Amino acid sequence: MTKRLYYDSSEIHEFDSVVVDVAPGSSAPLRTGVILRETAFYPTSGGQVHDTGWLTLTGNDGDDRLRVSEVAEAEDGRIVHYLEAPVGLPLAGAAVHGSIDAERRRDHMQQHSGQHVLSAAFLELYQMPTVSFHMGDDYCSIDLAAPLVSLEQIIEAEKRANQIVFENRPVRVRYVSRAEAEKLGLRKLPPAERDELRLIEIADFDLSACGGTHVAASGQIGSILLRKSEKVRQGTRVEFVCGGRAIGMARRDYGALSEAAGLFSAQLWDVPEQIRKSVEESKLLRKQKNDALDELAEAMALAELHSQSETNGRKVVVRTFSDRDINFAKLFAQKVTRTGTPAVALVASAVDPPGLVFAQTTAQTPVQMGAPADMGALLKQVLSSVGGRGGGSRDFAQGGVPAGANINVEQLLREAAATIGS
Ligand SMILES: [Zn+2]
Repeated sequence: MTKRLYYDSSEIHEFDSVVVDVAPGSSAPLRTGVILRETAFYPTSGGQVHDTGWLTLTGNDGDDRLRVSEVAEAEDGRIVHYLEAPVGLPLAGAAVHGSIDAERRRDHMQQHSGQHVLSAAFLELYQMPTVSFHMGDDYCSIDLAAPLVSLEQIIEAEKRANQIVFENRPVRVRYVSRAEAEKLGLRKLPPAERDELRLIEIADFDLSACGGTHVAASGQIGSILLRKSEKVRQGTRVEFVCGGRAIGMARRDYGALSEAAGLFSAQLWDVPEQIRKSVEESKLLRKQKNDALDELAEAMALAELHSQSETNGRKVVVRTFSDRDINFAKLFAQKVTRTGTPAVALVASAVDPPGLVFAQTTAQTPVQMGAPADMGALLKQVLSSVGGRGGGSRDFAQGGVPAGANINVEQLLREAAATIGS
């Protein structure tokens, strides 16, 4: 087993050691794993993410810096330092100097220690035990064994957790036997594997078994900020960020909110009200626009019908819109065919993507209209010549031509009109 320097102190960022073994990567991506006699690198475990850093071969001229990009715990208890690139490979017996990325470690310690406090707060206040912990790149989360966590409970747990932070309680590490641990009433007892347990105690608040790296006093967590909560299979997931991340997150939120406030020329806290107003306003405007378009389409349809003379007991309206979209073309076609006068509407929109709408007044009996046509079939016929797609029923059909293909839709309408003999 590799001797773990981080067990004794989370503040060891530099250390000297000796290479015990080098395991050439066997699985893709091909990586080389270095095993040391002792290490301060923390391997991914217990929800806490691994450290990164450097190994420098001190036996040489001291120039061979190897980037450690991942650290994992092997089943036999050895810690494997995976190198980013297998250059200047160290050999067993080589002396190395290890440096871990202190900023990354500090961040992980804040998140992980904050999790202890938060889990204990939820247990103390609401008897909600934590069943799992996840540390992501942006935020962390705990899953609580509770079907529902209210906003009020979130706020109260956040308050209690930060109270523990402000009190700057000492965080101590000690080792006890399993039998002793069982008597101590730990927040969470790990599965029976080890005889000796490493206990982390936040003075007079939390006691749990953990192999992670922790701050020396709760004040170093900085602050604990709870974010959203959501229902998950095993209960409720609560997102949170601690310390530096809480500052970063608050800064980002503030930036987004300020930008929104700037757009409305409003104060930050007035943004929700402004958005509500704006949503209402755009709903109203959309309705007004639709009503106006409806009236316009109807007026245009009546004017067209008025100027047409009847052929074979119906009026045929052929119209291309160069500045109105297919939705308006459709509306117009519907208006033309629903006034009571038997009519056929062959309508196109030349606005990209161009489209066609063919419609006719639904006849009670075919004889009401001379030479009734099948609009769906007619549309398919004219579109097939230009690679367009569309279809519909006997009385209404809609389709489009390939966008940007430079197809003259007006010409297609003339072909369609000629086919139905108008
Ligand atoms: Zn821990």
